[in-house]
Amino acid sequence: MPHRISFWTKLHNVFQKLWFFFLETLFPWFCLGCHKEVTNFPICSDCLSKIPIAYNFICPICGKNVLLSKTIINSKLTIEKVSNCSHHLSLTALGAATDYSNELVRELIFAFKYNKIVALKTPLSQLIISFLERTNWSTLLDLNWLVIPIPLHRRKYQLRGFNQSELLAQVVAQYFSLEISNKPLVRIKNNQAQASLKDKHSRLENAKGIFTISKPQIVHNRNILLIDDVITTGATMLEAAKILKGNKARQIIGLVLAKG
Ligand SMILES: [Zn+2]
Ligand SMILES: [Zn+2]
Repeated sequence: MPHRISFWTKLHNVFQKLWFFFLETLFPWFCLGCHKEVTNFPICSDCLSKIPIAYNFICPICGKNVLLSKTIINSKLTIEKVSNCSHHLSLTALGAATDYSNELVRELIFAFKYNKIVALKTPLSQLIISFLERTNWSTLLDLNWLVIPIPLHRRKYQLRGFNQSELLAQVVAQYFSLEISNKPLVRIKNNQAQASLKDKHSRLENAKGIFTISKPQIVHNRNILLIDDVITTGATMLEAAKILKGNKARQIIGLVLAKG
């Protein structure tokens, strides 16, 4: 989240942007899939369209398909989950646009997060938008939705210079004309990388208490679309959903680029 960022971090980020602009001007991009020369970002539209996109929302615990339908209760949109699993969680359903086992998806996410090619937010968000468009999402849309990106810890944000989930969330929110806010959810624990923890129990333990809520009134009675880049066990997202639900959010739907 864009908390207080030091002058030197800001200056560093400005120079980094100028440096990337200089590199992009001098050297063309090559598609990470087919290696053809491309403009704007390192993926061509052909390779992007070949990335397999999921058809259904799923249960974040057992992975079974979940159907979402809406009813209006007291003039408020209420999302109903139809599934043959028995999990009733704060996170009603999870939408994972594609899969982390796909090599091109992995390379794109790495280039986005670690090589800091932020322009990749456009094609990567397109994968999430394509996923939403093939589900019954458009029938569920109304102004009650609030998009919230999973925040980074302040220190990690300063190191990276951006929050990848926030960039994706901005494009998705803009596309569907939804309100977005990075205010309610604050990451207070810079927890050990989830990927380095082997078993599910350690990951769930590791995620406990990593968020706190600020300005809880923003989430009161709102349906929340919680956006992250990658999900592994879902521990982080479940923890975020739990705290939002505890602060009177209505339905919480998770949305990620890829599941690991
Ligand atoms: Zn290509
Ligand atoms: Zn389930």
